[in-house]
Amino acid sequence: MLDLLPVSAALHGGTLSLGGTPAAALAERHGTPLVVYCAETVRERARSLARAVGSGHVAFGTKAFPNVALLRLLREEGIGADVASSGELAFARAAGMTGGEIVVHGNNKDEAFLREAGAEGATVVLDAPDEAALAAAAGVTRVLVRVTLGVDADTHEAIRTGHHGSKFGLPPTQARALVADALERGLDVLGLHMHVGSQLVSFDAQAETIVRLASFAASCRDTLGWSARVADLGGGFGIRHHPDDRVADAAALADAATATARTAFAEAALPAPELWLEPGRSLVGRAGVTLYRVGAVKRLDGRTWVAVDGGMSDNPRPQLYGARYTALSAQRADEPADEVVSVAGMHCESGDVLIDDVALPAPRRGDLLAVPATGAYTLAMASNYNGVTRPAAVLVADGEVRLIRRRETVDDLLELERG
Ligand SMILES: *Cc1c(COP(=O)(O)O)cnc(C)c1O
Repeated sequence: MLDLLPVSAALHGGTLSLGGTPAAALAERHGTPLVVYCAETVRERARSLARAVGSGHVAFGTKAFPNVALLRLLREEGIGADVASSGELAFARAAGMTGGEIVVHGNNKDEAFLREAGAEGATVVLDAPDEAALAAAAGVTRVLVRVTLGVDADTHEAIRTGHHGSKFGLPPTQARALVADALERGLDVLGLHMHVGSQLVSFDAQAETIVRLASFAASCRDTLGWSARVADLGGGFGIRHHPDDRVADAAALADAATATARTAFAEAALPAPELWLEPGRSLVGRAGVTLYRVGAVKRLDGRTWVAVDGGMSDNPRPQLYGARYTALSAQRADEPADEVVSVAGMHCESGDVLIDDVALPAPRRGDLLAVPATGAYTLAMASNYNGVTRPAAVLVADGEVRLIRRRETVDDLLELERG
């Protein structure tokens, strides 16, 4: 279990601590649900991914958890931001990121967003046949072109992006025309972008895509006389959410990706490209742990329901992707886990089940549960379903605790109401 938790997690007797502070004290002070981020885990991940690209660039897939304090921490480690909306761009700028640190994505960027990206001097990833024209008109100067190379990743279909027919990017012939159009319009076309999908557990799909990227780059050189200086290999490295998950380590996957790209470009007699990566989940996923308070416990024929004070409003991944999580008792972890239970959320849906089955010390009202590996795509996808307020997040390190996102209040929600 400890290997799913942040690197600073420790068990003393039955008591879980994170970043040197007992989970119970965090829950007491900041309420539940609470997402606790370990600074050391984020830094350690940031360093190992940055190492893979050498003098290249790592941009955090901001959508995994848009948070100003975390973006600042990542920036201290030399990591930029990959943003896909005006809102995410504003978060990156609030964290002090500028210009070339920011990579702008989106399969449907509007004019206002392109103008903001242009004014910021960010690198814009072109994703539609007419987008070179729109970007040039909006004052954008530096671009990449996103190409879909037709490889099916072994991941949930909702987060697969590099296949033929994807809504993202363009297939090779159209992507090459877009490169030509961008060059004609005087844009600085730095290079090419690919992203195979998210929560990749092995290297096969990415390796195949990188090889195809190099031949596509060679075809651009041969037909347009243009060589990519940058190969942006996207993100997608998976993490383990459950003890049964078998997932290659993100740093090893990143090393394999960059090594493959270097070789493939060399074999195509192309200049060595600058390598960019856009990890989201693998930077912050393991760093986050969600703490929930147990409420109602129902022992029915054949099933025990343990209801917690959150659910699909703070983590919709079980419903969206069939994601599997585990949990541990944050205060009684030393007691035998002799009861198999289902952990339900508090929402008015039978499908609001966080964990189908997990063995815990016989749960009772008031227990504190810790759900590991919830740092990515949880709070980022949170909602106010059932009029629930979205949780707070804290950053912990060496016994210090910093609130990095305050809990919403019902007044925050009522503030939006009119009439
Ligand atoms: C979502 C996304 C990422 C980050 O993906 P992770 O799986 O979180 O690493 C990076 N680049 C693009 C273009 C994306 O859409």
